[in-house]
Amino acid sequence: MNMRTTNIFKPGFILAIAFFALACSSDDISPENHTHVATVRQKILKKNLAILLLEYQDISAENRAKFPTKSEMEKIIFDKNSPLKKYFDDMSYGQFTYSGDIFGYTTIAVDGMKDGKAAEGTIFLYTDIIRNVPNFDPNKYDAVILVPVNDAGLGQAFAQRTEELLINGKAFRKGWVYCPISVGKLHRDPNAPFSNTIEDKYRSGIPTGENSSEDFENGAFTDFELTFAHELIHNLGVDHAFSRTNGDKPAYEPEIPNNSTKDGYSLMYHEYGDQFDIVGLAAQGFSLNAVYRDFFGWYDNTNTLETINTKGTKTVTIFPINERNKKNAVEIRIPGKPAAPFYEENAFIFNSSLKNQGYFLEVRNAGAWDKALLNAELAGNLEGIMIHQTDGFTSYLLDASPSPNINFVGSNVPDLRDVVLKPNMTYENDDVKLYNVIKNGNGSFTVTVDIK
Ligand SMILES: [Zn+2]
Repeated sequence: MNMRTTNIFKPGFILAIAFFALACSSDDISPENHTHVATVRQKILKKNLAILLLEYQDISAENRAKFPTKSEMEKIIFDKNSPLKKYFDDMSYGQFTYSGDIFGYTTIAVDGMKDGKAAEGTIFLYTDIIRNVPNFDPNKYDAVILVPVNDAGLGQAFAQRTEELLINGKAFRKGWVYCPISVGKLHRDPNAPFSNTIEDKYRSGIPTGENSSEDFENGAFTDFELTFAHELIHNLGVDHAFSRTNGDKPAYEPEIPNNSTKDGYSLMYHEYGDQFDIVGLAAQGFSLNAVYRDFFGWYDNTNTLETINTKGTKTVTIFPINERNKKNAVEIRIPGKPAAPFYEENAFIFNSSLKNQGYFLEVRNAGAWDKALLNAELAGNLEGIMIHQTDGFTSYLLDASPSPNINFVGSNVPDLRDVVLKPNMTYENDDVKLYNVIKNGNGSFTVTVDIK
């Protein structure tokens, strides 16, 4: 899967489905330039952000009048009661917060539509087009978020952790994000529907069969908020939430035929594949997985996380992942299996700060960030334990009850409608055995873990 060797765009997996509103290609981690890659494990508690509101030079006056004001953007991004602030507070158990300033609008000397399409974020790479941002002091900020508002549609959002950004002719070298807003009609086509991604609620869908999906509105975030949260998490240092599935067989068995997307990417390493995750496709849930929360240092090993890293048997109880002051996850690290990438292109990221390969167990409820689980197609996931495998860095959602792949809109997709390990089920491979699942009355689940 040759995804990380070139700048910015991972050409790999973009699921060509109608409900794919989260246009994101994450990050560039270029092997030639490691210096700014935040892949070292570290506790991340605070970031100071510079938000640059940008407008293109060719916006129509009619649409320009509908753009969000600076104070509206302040409210969306920085108000302490905003969904975004609450989200990061919940994901980090009240530990991580961001602050910052909004600059702009700044007009850039570039058109919002080029060759009949909305401008892409690549125009900001290696170019000196953000030239007049008064009072911007790069030393005050940990990251820059470019928020261009366009009336021609959205370019693909991304987080950039290596290449520098030029602002007022000076290089900003600490990582930046391109997180556009659309206020207008796609490609300025008069027949297209009007979209406003700071107001439109994120809609998602669940593939249920050939050309069919169950579409619904997940009210927790607008399109912009979802993309902002997704890209900010990339900026903090992780990539996408993958899934690792093998049709109707467990992932540890030899790969079945036809387990690839139409573009040839194996579903054993399925980028964006975790449908239940903000840095996955986020169609079936918004919570951030425990692997990445642990990477950011948001757990402590006495109260909120149970770590098992020696051979033997242990029985543990896990509470829903967003409940405060509870044991929210089990971290299983396999002795003798140091961090090593499941796919080779990621090898340069791996370093001595990473922990061993292993598994994380977590439980979801249908609270603020995972209301999609109220959908009948997904409700089975409230009845057991979600298993994520990790190679030491990346998170891979496993399916404890494998089902045949779904041929959906001309490509294979995994059937992830029901992935959890439920009472009377066992997950066992060469590393671990997970069994004796008990559903307790208080939302928690108990499970027995053997490390072999
Ligand atoms: Zn992404």
